[in-house]
Amino acid sequence: MKKDIPGKGAILQRDRETYAIAPHIPGGITDTATLRKICDTADKFGVTALKLTSAQRIALIGIKEEDLDSIWGDLDQKPGAAIGLCVRSVKICPGTTWCKRGVQDSVSLGLKLDALYHAMQLPNKMKMGVSGCMLSCAEVAVKDIGIMGTPKGWRIFVGGNAGARPRLADLLVDNVESEEEVLEIVAKVVAYYRNSGCEMRIGKIVEDMGIEGFRREVLGG
Ligand code: SF4
Repeated sequence: MKKDIPGKGAILQRDRETYAIAPHIPGGITDTATLRKICDTADKFGVTALKLTSAQRIALIGIKEEDLDSIWGDLDQKPGAAIGLCVRSVKICPGTTWCKRGVQDSVSLGLKLDALYHAMQLPNKMKMGVSGCMLSCAEVAVKDIGIMGTPKGWRIFVGGNAGARPRLADLLVDNVESEEEVLEIVAKVVAYYRNSGCEMRIGKIVEDMGIEGFRREVLGG
């Protein structure tokens, strides 16, 4: 019986025969040349549908197993980390780059996080989100690591998810003034999780330790 093929970023479809792939598009920000390449490749390989995903990707659906290597080759990409135990996606809102309500540069911070962490292997899946203001269009309260822009800086949440056992994230740190400090804190959280031995999502650790215990353990002080 056929299964997902994580090494090829291939997700078995409901017909139990064909696959979908989802090329990595950091922050969902792309250009017309990339879109043309995706469309031309989709036509060449008889893709049956294109689906915009909640992770800001474009899924190509209905691919034959024997075409998987060639289609990634034509897209000129390594398989995206749409499945598997890794950092799956960093959802990024338009922030001060484009949105009139933005108070922080979520695109800049989000793309840095994406470059650092996308596809990093971890004990379980991890989703991140970065919102440029407190309206939180990137839904940071249900991300494993969520970062929200406020007029005073950045607010970092940890332990959320919107899965079968949903959990609202806890506030880890508030009023973080610079991107560099946010990146340092996220690095500590990811490193702690990576070495934790926990096979559940990071929210389980936060739940077991309590947010104050987690903060003390991971950030000290
Ligand atoms: S979270 Fe704020 S800055 Fe980001 S898209 Fe929504 S309203 Fe705009």
